[in-house]
Amino acid sequence: MACWAFLVLSCLILPVLTTDPAVLIVSFDGFRHDYFDRISSPNFDRLKKIGSHGDLMNVFETKTFPNHQSLATGLYPESHGVLANHVFDPQYNRTVNYSAELWHYNDQIMPIWTLNEISSKERNSGVMMWPGSEFSYHRGVVPTFIHKWDSKWSFQRRVDVVMSWLTQQHNSANLVMLYMEEPDTHAHAFGSESDEVTEQIKNVDSYIGYLADQLERHNLTESVDTFIVSDHGMTETDEHRIIDLNKIIDSSLYLRVGTSPVIHIYPNPGELPNLLRQLEWASQQYRTFDVFTKDNLPEHWKVANCRRAPPILLVAKEGYAFDDLRQAIVDYAKKYNFTPSSSHRYGLHGYDNLERKMQPFFLAFGPSIREDYQAPQLHSIDLFSLWSHMLRLPAHATNGTLSADALSLLRAHHITPSLSSLLITFTCVSLAVLIIGGTGIVATRRLINKRHSDECTQPYRGMQSLEVEENEEIMVEIVNGNVEEQHLLSGDSS
Ligand SMILES: [Zn+2]
Repeated sequence: MACWAFLVLSCLILPVLTTDPAVLIVSFDGFRHDYFDRISSPNFDRLKKIGSHGDLMNVFETKTFPNHQSLATGLYPESHGVLANHVFDPQYNRTVNYSAELWHYNDQIMPIWTLNEISSKERNSGVMMWPGSEFSYHRGVVPTFIHKWDSKWSFQRRVDVVMSWLTQQHNSANLVMLYMEEPDTHAHAFGSESDEVTEQIKNVDSYIGYLADQLERHNLTESVDTFIVSDHGMTETDEHRIIDLNKIIDSSLYLRVGTSPVIHIYPNPGELPNLLRQLEWASQQYRTFDVFTKDNLPEHWKVANCRRAPPILLVAKEGYAFDDLRQAIVDYAKKYNFTPSSSHRYGLHGYDNLERKMQPFFLAFGPSIREDYQAPQLHSIDLFSLWSHMLRLPAHATNGTLSADALSLLRAHHITPSLSSLLITFTCVSLAVLIIGGTGIVATRRLINKRHSDECTQPYRGMQSLEVEENEEIMVEIVNGNVEEQHLLSGDSS
């Protein structure tokens, strides 16, 4: 009997003790979905074959900070509050730049590295330069391993440190997020179609080759699932396509926040109707930008329901920029030591997330990832749900879903680990019940034979077996229900 009890107990405990692969997420800033089509990319091609890849549908504004926060939280910008790289926040009554105030929109903001960190003592997050990661969330929780952004650090150095987080003997990281600012930086200064950007794309290919080699060198290929992602794509503009906002509206009548191609306008008291009329006239006349008020922002941007949504929002048409680009050109020329000419092109992003050129890519490989698979376009806010699922993190409300498309990246045995654990447990329990029941039946039959009464035992056996099955179905439904609940809840908290 003790033997059967041990078998049942082992079956119950084993699935819980199974070690899940760590998840490593690497973001290359501004890597457009089609960049690898431009060059021969041996490392990307090799990893594509052993993994899954596809395009990402990102969020508006298609800028770095909103998109990195959506990847980290599974929330739309209106829910995490990072609508742009710079925002006006009525709560502080000032423009908020890169700071704890920008990222910590409210106490409900829960990046995945924080959720991982608080979910158990055995889980440790490591975050290398991911935008917004050096600030605390959830009552002061910070990742076990953290390194602030430092452009002087090479990609290789960042990877080397991350490898030490993954491999150290005690308290190693089971979730790591790593950020790299290229190819975005060069694309701004030279344009997305430039030779300089082609060179950066080649570099990214060699970087991911280095990363894969290091995973192999440290014997991590079977224990780490890697995701290479990006935040947005890129297009080009030049000095002939600059919109002079100062020639359209009087700059003393409003507060201007943000950078091209999206500008937030905060009119002085009583000036809104007047400014709106002038802006709408110029928009129709020149057809180089669109004007939105807080009441008619496109639904798919998920921006309106937020205290940081501006009264007026301007978006340049793709390929156009506002006059703040002139100062940016001076900065690029100084940084890269060139003389701006009228034919020089500059990279720009931030436009509508439905614009194809604004959309980035992803590549995933590792023990849980399906091989040689081109996935349908995934929503970047759904990746939080997928990573949480892979790490078996507790349910947390987001705007994303654990979509069938996201799950299609996983190998069959990883699709529903919690369900498979339950099935193993169910099989073991059923086996034990059958054996114990069988022993009981034999004993009962002996008793029945003794009493010459066969009829009364059959219904009892049937009901007992049915009861176990019903309980199991309920458990499975509850587990699925949690997953549904986790991802269907709205995370809006503005
Ligand atoms: Zn950029």
